[in-house]
Amino acid sequence: MGERRLHGLAAAPGVAAGRVWRVGAAADDAGSGDPQAELMRARAALLRAGDEITALAARLRADGAAEQADIVETGVLMAADPALDAAVEAAVARGLAAPQAILEACEQLADMLAAIEDPVLAARADDVRSLGRRAAAGRATPSGPGPFILVAQDLGPADVAELDERVAGIALAAGGASAHAAVIARGLGLPMVVGVGAPLLELADGTSLAVDGDRGDAIVDPRVAPPARRTRATATGPAVTRDGVRVRILVNAAGAAEVRVGLAAGAEGVGLLRTELAFLDAAAWPDEAAHRRMLEPVLALLGNRTATVRVLDFGGDKTPPFLRGISARGVALLLDQPDALAAQLRAIGAAEGVRVLLPLVRDAADVEAVRALTTAPLGAMIETTDAATRVDEIAAAADFLSIGTNDLTADVLGVDRFAPGDVATHHPRVLAQIARVGEAARAHERVLEVCGEAASDPRMIPLLVGFGVTELSVGAARVAATHAAVRALDAGAVAQLASAALEASDAAEVERLLAEAGHELGEVGDGA
Ligand code: PEP
Ligand code: MG
Repeated sequence: MGERRLHGLAAAPGVAAGRVWRVGAAADDAGSGDPQAELMRARAALLRAGDEITALAARLRADGAAEQADIVETGVLMAADPALDAAVEAAVARGLAAPQAILEACEQLADMLAAIEDPVLAARADDVRSLGRRAAAGRATPSGPGPFILVAQDLGPADVAELDERVAGIALAAGGASAHAAVIARGLGLPMVVGVGAPLLELADGTSLAVDGDRGDAIVDPRVAPPARRTRATATGPAVTRDGVRVRILVNAAGAAEVRVGLAAGAEGVGLLRTELAFLDAAAWPDEAAHRRMLEPVLALLGNRTATVRVLDFGGDKTPPFLRGISARGVALLLDQPDALAAQLRAIGAAEGVRVLLPLVRDAADVEAVRALTTAPLGAMIETTDAATRVDEIAAAADFLSIGTNDLTADVLGVDRFAPGDVATHHPRVLAQIARVGEAARAHERVLEVCGEAASDPRMIPLLVGFGVTELSVGAARVAATHAAVRALDAGAVAQLASAALEASDAAEVERLLAEAGHELGEVGDGA
C-alpha cells in the first residue's frame, strides 16, 4: 500500500513514527444501541481504568510519592463499587452509550459523596469524577511494544501530561486542539500535528503512521520510516556565561512527567508549574485536598529544589466549565474568590524551595493582598503592558519577577498568541517592555525569571540575558539546549546587543543584529 499524506497544522516540532494508538472521545460515541452490549463495554472500561490507576500508583511509589499513590489507588476500589455498577446499569437501560453512562453514574455517585459533610468523603467525590473521565475517554494503555502515535479527535493538556512513555507523537483530527496541550507536547519533546481532519480517525489501531510536527503532516504507511527527532540531551553543571554570569535553567511543567524529564535533562528545579491545567474539567473550585493530590507527586520529585507553583491561572483558553462566561482572569479572578485562593495556598505551603507565582498581576495591591495569605516567597508575573508600566511598584512589593512572554507579546503586539506561525517576541516594542522589567528587577535587587516560550527561543536567549534575566524556565525538551546556549554567551557583549536591539525598527532588524553579532539563531521553537 502506498504512502498517504494527510495535511494538518504543526503544533509541536519534531518527527516521529510508530503504530496508531486510537483514543476515542466520549462525546461523539453513539454506542451500539444495545443496552446489554453497552453495559459490557462500560464494565470493561471501568476495569481498564482501574488497571491504569494501579499502574499510575506503582509509578508514583517508585518516585517516592507513597502517600499520593495511596490516594490515587482509592480509584481502583471505586471502579469496582457495586453502587457505581448499579448506576451504570440504570443509565444504559435508559439508552445511553457506555461513555455517557459512565460519566452520568460517576457524577451521581460524586454528588452523593459530596453531600455528606465529611472532608475525606468530599475528596472522594473528585476521585470518582476523575475515574469517570478516565473510563469514559476510553484511554487504555496501548498494548505491545512502542513506539505509538496517539490518534484522537482532541486532547486536553492533562491527557498529554500523563501520556505513556511509549507514545512518540500525537496526531489530532480537530483544529481547535487546546493550545496548552501543544505547549505540553513541546515541553515533553513530543511531535504533534493538529487539524488533520476526519480521515485520521478512520485509521485502525496498529496502522503505521508518521507525524511531521515541523510541516504539520501525518503520513500513513510511510515508505521510509523517518528518523525520530526527539532529543533528550542532558546538561551537566550550572549554566554560566563565558564571562562568569550564572543563569539558572528551570523547567516548565503541568505535572510530574515533565518534572521528571526536565530534572533528568539538568534543570535545577521548576520555574513554572501550571496548576490550572489539571483542573480544566473541574465542576467547581478545587479544594485543598484536590490541590494536594495535584501537587504532591511534583513536590516529591523536587525535594528542596526550587518549586515555583503558579496559583490557578483560569480564564481565556483555560476556562473550566464552572467558570464559562467570566471575564476576569489570573490573580484578579482568584482575589474575587478568597476561599479558593486560600485553599490552594494552604496546599502549596511554604517548605524550603517552594515559591508562589501570581499570574497576570495588575499592580502592587495584587501582590500585597496575597502576601497576607502565605509566608512563601511571592513572584509577580509581568504579562501585560499595564503591568510593565507599573513594574517598579510591583517589584517593590514582590520577592521576584517572572515575565510571561507569551501573553506579554500578544498584548504588546495585539496578536493572537495561539494563531499558527511565528510570534515575534524579539520585536523591539516587546523588547522595550522586557528591558523595563529588567531595570526594575535590578533596581530592587529581585530575581528575574522568564517562563514564556521566549526563554528557549535561540533568538531571545542572548537578548534576555542581555536585559539581566537570571532564570530561564523552559519546556523539558529544551533544558539541555537552553543550558548550552547560555554557556556560549558573553554577558557583557549581549548587554550591548540588547541595548542596540531596542533601537531597531522591527523584528527583522533585530534578527540582523543577532546574526551580525554571531548568534546561531537555530531552528526556532525546535523541540520547545
Ligand atoms: C506566559 O504567558 O508567557 C506564560 C508563561 O503563561 P501561560 O503560557 O501559561 O499563559
Ligand atoms: Mg500567561
